[in-house]
Amino acid sequence: MNWTGSTPLAVTGLYTAKELKALQQAGLATAHDILLRLPRRYEDRTRYDGCDALGSGRPVCLKVTVLQTGWRHIPGRRCFEARVRQEGLMPGALLSLKWFHAPYVSRIIAAGHTLAIYGKPGRYGSSYSFINPEFEILENESAGRRLAAESLGEETAPAAPAGAGVRIHTDRLVPVYRGVAGISARRYRAAVFALLQGLDASAGPPGYDVAPAYPYARALRDAHFPDTEDMARKARRRFALDECFRQQFCILWRRRRAAARPGLVTASSSFYVRELAASLPFELTEAQKRCVREIRRDMQSPRPMNRLLQGDVGSGKTLVALCAMLMAVESGYEAALMAPTQILAEQHYCSFRRLLAHMDVRLALRTAARSDDSELSLEGRDDGKPKIVIGTHALLYGKNALARLGLAVIDEQHKFGVEQRGRLIGQGESPDVLVMTATPIPRTLTLTLYGDLDVSVIDELPAARGGVRTVLRSARALPRICAFMQEQMDAGRQIYIVSPLIEESETRRGKAARSEFERWKKQFPEARVGLLHGRLPADEKEAVMRRFHTGELQILVATTVVEVGVDVPNATIMLINDAEGFGLSQLHQLRGRIGRGGHDSYCILLSDARDEAARAKLGALCATPDGFEIAEQDFRLRGPGDVLGTAQSGLGSIRFPEWLSDTRLIHAGKRRAEAVLDADPDLSRPEHAPLRKLVEKGEGGGAVIS
Ligand code: ADP
Ligand code: MG
Repeated sequence: MNWTGSTPLAVTGLYTAKELKALQQAGLATAHDILLRLPRRYEDRTRYDGCDALGSGRPVCLKVTVLQTGWRHIPGRRCFEARVRQEGLMPGALLSLKWFHAPYVSRIIAAGHTLAIYGKPGRYGSSYSFINPEFEILENESAGRRLAAESLGEETAPAAPAGAGVRIHTDRLVPVYRGVAGISARRYRAAVFALLQGLDASAGPPGYDVAPAYPYARALRDAHFPDTEDMARKARRRFALDECFRQQFCILWRRRRAAARPGLVTASSSFYVRELAASLPFELTEAQKRCVREIRRDMQSPRPMNRLLQGDVGSGKTLVALCAMLMAVESGYEAALMAPTQILAEQHYCSFRRLLAHMDVRLALRTAARSDDSELSLEGRDDGKPKIVIGTHALLYGKNALARLGLAVIDEQHKFGVEQRGRLIGQGESPDVLVMTATPIPRTLTLTLYGDLDVSVIDELPAARGGVRTVLRSARALPRICAFMQEQMDAGRQIYIVSPLIEESETRRGKAARSEFERWKKQFPEARVGLLHGRLPADEKEAVMRRFHTGELQILVATTVVEVGVDVPNATIMLINDAEGFGLSQLHQLRGRIGRGGHDSYCILLSDARDEAARAKLGALCATPDGFEIAEQDFRLRGPGDVLGTAQSGLGSIRFPEWLSDTRLIHAGKRRAEAVLDADPDLSRPEHAPLRKLVEKGEGGGAVIS
């Protein structure tokens, strides 16, 4: 029987009921699910090692002859053992292979067989033994029929249509997969092989085939059982292009649809902006002014604005956003600022209230803490005049959307998500949308995550800032650090202390924060120390934050809740415990909490980590203050999958994250998407039906990174 990608695994007859259940638990139900789950890596088992490699401590690949086999009883377990011969072994030395829990091995291996084996040997004097090594029978008497059964590993499993003489587990470039609980690596690999054998030659990828010139079925074979690494790379690239195309296609579709929708003219004059600028104790930077101009141009046009405002931490994005909101209000619309957390919403509210104190603009705050169940209450006078409303994401879109919303500003977007943004942009009469990123993101990611947006970049920091020095210290330096902290406090400055608390459970986390808090109180008995963590009730969080803001608290011991946006210009030290536990971008973001006033500031990374990756990461942070550069480094060090944390990114699910950092591939995907939409803007052609389904489903990716 032949199958296509969507054939359920149960139908293929290749798996036992138990295995099907295990696969299902791992989210693998169809042939596609298995076949698009490409190997994590390949092991070169084509060259046989000699005896000298046995003591090397690394896995070896040997060609051996079986001398005798038998069962051994080790208390509690039964083990099948094969004594084998290997050229060059010292006289009297033994080489044995042991298999536990694998009765089928005893049925297929016998004296006289030649085996290829792969594994890491244990050493006993001059003898060596392998536990559960990978193996393949290279020569035996009745090769044909036995090999067919053996390729599937267990006799209870149905036979594979694989031909004799084909190597699967050894003697080739062998695919290594991420494990699936309940199925051995060997068995899993054999079943992939069998599945490929039965795949219809004309099978295509899920959805739409962008590269029919390289048939899908062949590419799958090349990716799973390649002859060379290069072959595998080419095949992977083909799948990556498929996925990239789908993602770019969804973006382009959204972009074109958004552009076609009637928008609002939400800016005319900018009297308020000039009034605000005149009242500020500083000048807007040139970059800020340019961004305001770009935004204004969008708002003045009847096309809906969909713009991304990028800028490093502290570059003054919020002020630019406020200018945009003032323009909307001046034109008779409401403007909303959506913050990712309550603390940030409140902080924006307070700072806007200060900035707008002398102006006739209504300002309101909407947060869960201030609303009862049935109805959201608005703080501030609600006299029907246009206003700026600040709240958390959930409170400002969907059914809570404002009636005359002209401009929506989404703060710290990466906590929000592409889909949610899509929903917002898709609402009835389209408000203008301005998205602010929390941290700079790598250029290639801008193309994928924000491909449906125009981009403005604030590439300049306000000048009147004290510098930030970043240093890496070990715990031994703590006494000196503490003395320095005391000095800074004596000079009237404030301090953040942040720890990466283990997220085993939320309650534990609260406890850990509290013990950290006690520790620092003991360290500085005279100081006023506060504690901030995510588990605190909203009003307590707010109270602590306010006390730190006003300077009543000198030290704020916190979890990463202070990561984004918090603005206390008087704080000059950011002490980060176990700094290796954070990602680069996260550390940069934390560092962005200081150096916001005129004082020199110090970011102290405490770490006793030895491993090279950790040192490199922390070293990179000390070496550059530039957030864009750090974003690129982070991306290189951790790879796109981790940087994005797919759930957060809203990118849906990505099987081949490598394309995310491949500009050429992204452009190739984009060009193909454009070609399809140019030729068939409504996707009405029958061959585009799968694409139509794709955009209607509203997601761009494939499955989960396994
Ligand atoms: P971001 O959100 O980009 O990290 P913020 O908007 O929070 O940065 O601005 C950081 C601080 O810098 C705020 O206190 C803000 O008032 C101040 N600021 C903004 N623009 C300027 C400027 N042009 N000159 C001096 N200070 C500025
Ligand atoms: Mg901000």
